[in-house]
Amino acid sequence: MHEIFIQTDDQRAILETVQRFVEEEVTPRAAELDANTDPAESFSWEIVEKAHEVGIRQMTLREEYGGLGTDSLTTSMVIEELGKGDLGVSVIFAQTLKIAQIMQIALNEEQRARVLPNFAEDPRGMLGIGITEPDNASNYFIPHPTPFRTTAEKTDGGWIVNGMKHFISNGNRSTFYLVFVQTEKGKPLAEGSTCFLLERDREGFSIGRIHDKMGERLANNAELVFQDCFIPDENVVGEVGNGFGVLAEFFPQSNAYAGASILGVAEACYTKAVDWATIRVQGGKPLIQHDGIRAQLAEMRMLIDASRSYIHRACYLADHQEEGWDKTLGVLPKTMASQAAWKIATWCLEIHGGHGYMKEFGVEKLVRDAAAFLHSDGVNRTLFLKAANFMFED
Ligand SMILES: Cc1cc2nc3c(=O)[nH]c(=O)nc-3n(C[C@H](O)[C@H](O)[C@H](O)COP(=O)(O)OP(=O)(O)OC[C@H]3O[C@@H](n4cnc5c(N)ncnc54)[C@H](O)[C@@H]3O)c2cc1C
Repeated sequence: MHEIFIQTDDQRAILETVQRFVEEEVTPRAAELDANTDPAESFSWEIVEKAHEVGIRQMTLREEYGGLGTDSLTTSMVIEELGKGDLGVSVIFAQTLKIAQIMQIALNEEQRARVLPNFAEDPRGMLGIGITEPDNASNYFIPHPTPFRTTAEKTDGGWIVNGMKHFISNGNRSTFYLVFVQTEKGKPLAEGSTCFLLERDREGFSIGRIHDKMGERLANNAELVFQDCFIPDENVVGEVGNGFGVLAEFFPQSNAYAGASILGVAEACYTKAVDWATIRVQGGKPLIQHDGIRAQLAEMRMLIDASRSYIHRACYLADHQEEGWDKTLGVLPKTMASQAAWKIATWCLEIHGGHGYMKEFGVEKLVRDAAAFLHSDGVNRTLFLKAANFMFED
């Protein structure tokens, strides 16, 4: 369904590789991994290593670092394909691919030389981004003067960081992180915070709880804990006090990537609904021959196609901002795709009748997964408010 946006043989080859990877490495393992009761056990290094082997893990890196330098549109298609196989798998790579993309432009030359070759070569190299705190969450989407609780005090040659982040995707799995810390006391977080590059083995930094999530279980989310953690000046990303500038300037496509992950789930639900409606006979004919069901399948198709077009437009314009980027494209595609996915998942459940409620049909996992992005990457209501603030700026 990406057809008209696939313009090169390279893109086609990349997507075929991803489809094969999903078919061979993700789909056969997803249900079993999802069923583990310990969240740490739902994550698979085997999947990560296989993704490294076929070049998926590192594909947004430029060729000089051993990647493919995929643009944002192609990357979103890759993320969507992964999401058709499993949402958690899509998320672990969406995070890694997007942070690698940010790092290439936001890190200075010395930082890039320290981090990117190391990340490129490590078959388990994963990346995370830490912003959210227990009492500072939507506050950074709808700027509020509450400072971050994770703070840094200036010392000789660097900063002493104390505090905690939570809900962080790949939190317990990453080798490098970007973390947002309050460096200017008394300032609101959108102004007084700084982005730091953090290495996993830094003294004073540890992983807290691994969150036990309702869905998206093949990805891990965790707390990041800082106890007198020294981070040197050379790990400041961008300017001190301009952490949010790093995000806004360097990463307009983040929201669309999140939309692509959840769109994959919507498509998996749609496919399952069509398959079931084709084989299940009630009222003397297959469900797919009943008008109510047919109309619902068409509505699903419309929501999927419209969400994908929105995501593709946002990704294309993120890379070609001079052609008409507008800031709402940085917050709305994910809200649309996640609302669509949630509707489609519940309709898929409805079309399956009681069978959908039985775990062995796999619909139940999709419904749990479909709920993830109503909140992840910003709660939808907050994102609508953020878009409205862009639309009606004073
Ligand atoms: C699966 C998952 C993965 C995540 N991964 C990461 C990650 O990798 N890195 C990271 O930093 N964060 C991550 N997050 C955090 C995420 O981006 C959200 O910001 C966060 O979950 C929302 O915070 P909260 O749950 O505390 O909701 P709250 O901020 O407490 O919001 C609760 C409700 O109040 C509403 N609300 C809040 N403020 C306002 C307002 N001003 N006006 C009107 N309504 C308002 C919200 O819309 C929502 O309905 C992740 C979250 C999830 C669920």
